[in-house]
Amino acid sequence: MDFPLDKTFFTSERNASIFNKVLESTAQNLRFLTRSMPKPVFIFKPLHESHVQASIICSKKLRVHLRVRSGGHDYEGLSYVSHIENPFMLIDLSKLRQVNVDIEDNSAWVQAGATLGEFYYRIAEKSKVHGFPAGLCSTVGIGGHITGGGYGTLMRKFGLAADNVLDAKMVDANGKLISRTAMGEDLFWAIRGGGGGSFGVILAWKIKLVPVPQTVTVFTVTKTLEQDSGNKILSKWQLVADKLVEELFIRAIFNTAGNKTVTTSYNALFLGNKGMLMNVMKESFPELGLTRKDCVEMSWIESVVSISGFPSGTPTNVLLQRKSSFAKLSLKAKSDFVKNPIPESGLIGMFNMLLKDDSQMMIWTPYGGMMAQISESQIPFPHRKGVIFKIQYQTGWRESEQRPITHIKWIRDMYSYMMPYVSSNPRQAYVNYRDLDLGKNTKDDAEMSFKRAQVWGANYFKDNFNRLVKVKSKVDPDNFFRHEQSIPTLPVLSFSS
Ligand SMILES: Cc1cc2nc3c(=O)[nH]c(=O)nc-3n(C[C@H](O)[C@H](O)[C@H](O)COP(=O)(O)OP(=O)(O)OC[C@H]3O[C@@H](n4cnc5c(N)ncnc54)[C@H](O)[C@@H]3O)c2cc1C
Repeated sequence: MDFPLDKTFFTSERNASIFNKVLESTAQNLRFLTRSMPKPVFIFKPLHESHVQASIICSKKLRVHLRVRSGGHDYEGLSYVSHIENPFMLIDLSKLRQVNVDIEDNSAWVQAGATLGEFYYRIAEKSKVHGFPAGLCSTVGIGGHITGGGYGTLMRKFGLAADNVLDAKMVDANGKLISRTAMGEDLFWAIRGGGGGSFGVILAWKIKLVPVPQTVTVFTVTKTLEQDSGNKILSKWQLVADKLVEELFIRAIFNTAGNKTVTTSYNALFLGNKGMLMNVMKESFPELGLTRKDCVEMSWIESVVSISGFPSGTPTNVLLQRKSSFAKLSLKAKSDFVKNPIPESGLIGMFNMLLKDDSQMMIWTPYGGMMAQISESQIPFPHRKGVIFKIQYQTGWRESEQRPITHIKWIRDMYSYMMPYVSSNPRQAYVNYRDLDLGKNTKDDAEMSFKRAQVWGANYFKDNFNRLVKVKSKVDPDNFFRHEQSIPTLPVLSFSS
């Protein structure tokens, strides 16, 4: 099989500008687009599912390693940069983005290259009372997102995107097109949360739609450090965030305002109207001081646009433009899971740390509800009962700023500071917030070493890592689908007598 040449972009001088344009199109993290970063020898954009099969066969024939990109949001750029393989090519699935919504059946097939925003829009086009519990950022690709779990504002009521998958179409390491029945339940388990780029190329997911009310309510209430003296509001949030009614999702977003103070924004979605929400808040979280004026009633799809960060009144078809509400930056992110409220003394130190980076953002996402009702081994994503909230640490900068090392050092210091307050043995992390620092300090630093993988494997998957390795060893024994943190095959053990 050959690549259709009109859909293949080479690094040669002649078409360098079009090559760069395609490479940069969905790459979310500018840190991996600098001149010094390795580049694919070519980029291929399949127009048909069979082209993906062809690309796997060609990759093997040409002995050119393959990377797969759906929405390009991998925090370590692993979908478009390889630090361990040269040469490598990029299969960009952005042209495979058909969505078929079947309201009668409460389900939909969505191809991997669709963004979450496109998918949400197509659901709402068919029904005002159906939705899907996936991410808050509209440009994330459904292909990579679901492979790592995928959480959003509906998670406390319905769980993760990966908890709501009914079937999948995938091309395996032999170039064969398989769906749930053909892949078997072990592999179907592994692809729903075991991380992208390890088991095959997902072409499409069949997902279960969930019910949403005609009217939902959104609010954002922001407090400075001074307005929450003694951290009374934040401490109460830690006590109630995972215990509130499942219809209410309140996350806390921390920003640094010019190194002078830290603001905490309580950003919420409630599956119901203002009146019902006010009753819940009066009962469970009066310390926030929410007023009716803070609350805006809207449809679920309007709430998607609002929570994605677009200005109020932005038409919902902005979701079809595959554009973000914010400018792209160079990014580094990390994650943690919190099982006991962080005491006041810990919060004071945490705010002091936040004040040291003027371009940081930290988000606390509440768990509980449905998240606590699903067992740790139901799918590979293990962060369930007992988690109060997840932390995302993020720092972002412009490449022209010349201070990347300072920001990266800051986020590592912040992560060290938080150690006493977060989960331990293992310290849990979210695979969709890919972090190549994990497992780095392991003594055996041979590339892709199994020992190192066991460290990040436990961080991301706890005991599920062992089952993932078994599945990987069975379905891809030659480790065709590999990257810096892909699931390894079982090592061949040598016994000395
Ligand atoms: C700005 C931003 C906002 C985010 N918001 C959220 C959020 O609200 N909720 C949340 O849960 N996460 C969120 N994330 C994390 C996001 O879910 C993950 O980065 C996810 O992996 C992105 O999927 P993608 O297809 O866009 O990324 P890609 O970079 O294309 O892929 C990510 C990984 O999956 C692999 N992969 C991609 N496509 C396929 C495929 N078709 N088959 C097999 N493997 C594949 C890639 O090789 C790579 O390893 C966010 C990330 C960013 C940068």
